[in-house]
Amino acid sequence: MALLLPRALRAVPALLLILLAPAAAMAREPVILVSIDGFRADYMGQGATPVLDRLAASGVRAEGLRPSFPSLTFPNHYTLVTGLRPDRHGMVDNVMRDARRPGVTYSMSNRSETNDRFWWDDAEPVWVTAEKAGLRTATLFWPGSESDIRGVRPGTWLTYDKSMAAEARVTRLLDWMGRPADQRPAFATLYFDDVDTAGHQHGPAAPETRAAVERIDRAIGTLVEGLERLGLPVNLVVVADHGMRATSPDRVIEVETLVPPGAIDLVTQGSAAGFAALPGREAEVRRAVQQRHPNAECWARSEIPERLHYGSHPRVPPYLCLARPGWLILSRATLARRPVQAGGAHGYDPADPDMAGLFVASGPAFRRGEVLPAFDNVDVHPLLMGLLGLSGPPTDGDPAVTRRALKPDALRTAP
Ligand code: AMP
Ligand code: ZN
Ligand code: ZN
Repeated sequence: MALLLPRALRAVPALLLILLAPAAAMAREPVILVSIDGFRADYMGQGATPVLDRLAASGVRAEGLRPSFPSLTFPNHYTLVTGLRPDRHGMVDNVMRDARRPGVTYSMSNRSETNDRFWWDDAEPVWVTAEKAGLRTATLFWPGSESDIRGVRPGTWLTYDKSMAAEARVTRLLDWMGRPADQRPAFATLYFDDVDTAGHQHGPAAPETRAAVERIDRAIGTLVEGLERLGLPVNLVVVADHGMRATSPDRVIEVETLVPPGAIDLVTQGSAAGFAALPGREAEVRRAVQQRHPNAECWARSEIPERLHYGSHPRVPPYLCLARPGWLILSRATLARRPVQAGGAHGYDPADPDMAGLFVASGPAFRRGEVLPAFDNVDVHPLLMGLLGLSGPPTDGDPAVTRRALKPDALRTAP
């Protein structure tokens, strides 16, 4: 190689060449970002998570990871990998519309839309930044990973398959991590839906939810053992997108009690209702939204409280009603189709302690036994960027929040 360099460059000392190398070339151990969907912060510490407990003892945990509003899956997974709040990254809900796509409703189950970069392009996820910097990336599921965001895809990715068992996901990821060093991902994601699914169906305190927690804890154990077998030191960051709240048929608000029946176009419902006034019904709807309600708060988009950091993206519907945690706002038509049963929901105010998710991190970059106070999930992205030696434009996240979790020499380049 040196022989191919022009004579002048051959004289440059090796050290200077290292200093001139792009930040990506200096990245250390691979980073694996694991999401356990709907893993409430306090599911740990209940005797169901020996593996996560060990990881926390050998590394770092936080008392909670506060989601961004709305505390739903797609908005928060995109926040975790972009450092932007939903109001800025544009994934403002699991269900949304955009005036530039008339007649189209984006939803998680609408593959042709979820795969379209149009919905994701307002932000740059860490795998895109990494690929652009020459690092290899792989995603064993993550919202957004099936799209060519800003024209770039993860080097290795899979189409989301809910039926793929947790252990099979781990086995596949270990296959990828076992590739020769020059083909091994420097950044990978792994996603589990089981705990969220059980939490919705049975509620956060149910034995079925505890069983899902135990199952995923074991799967993470398989991952850790597999990485040890490969002799691969990895910085593992385990997070949850939000927590879970018990719901009940006794805590239901009919949309029609908040706004006059037939006056709105309802875009979202559940923990919150987002809607627009139908033509000619604007004044009526505005008046209704200004009323006080015992178990919900309603606002015009421009009046949403500052603490929710929500309401400026054009995809946010003109009106929002947010239920008190544990309550559901549903239309009469929806209730007739699917009556509410006891179970669980999320999407509530991020300040609700039951919305806080898991944060555990362990690996060569992390201190041992550190416990961080609860922090906002926008601060995960600068941590990932720092671990990978990547930099990018400012986000809503603050690298200082997690710095205490890191060994002093963990970051070679400022994030
Ligand atoms: P939520 O409605 O916010 O509880 O969303 C949780 C659901 O999102 C889970 O049941 C997953 O099956 C689903 N999900 C997670 N990731 C993806 C993805 N990449 N594509 C489609 N659906 C997903
Ligand atoms: Zn979720
Ligand atoms: Zn969920």
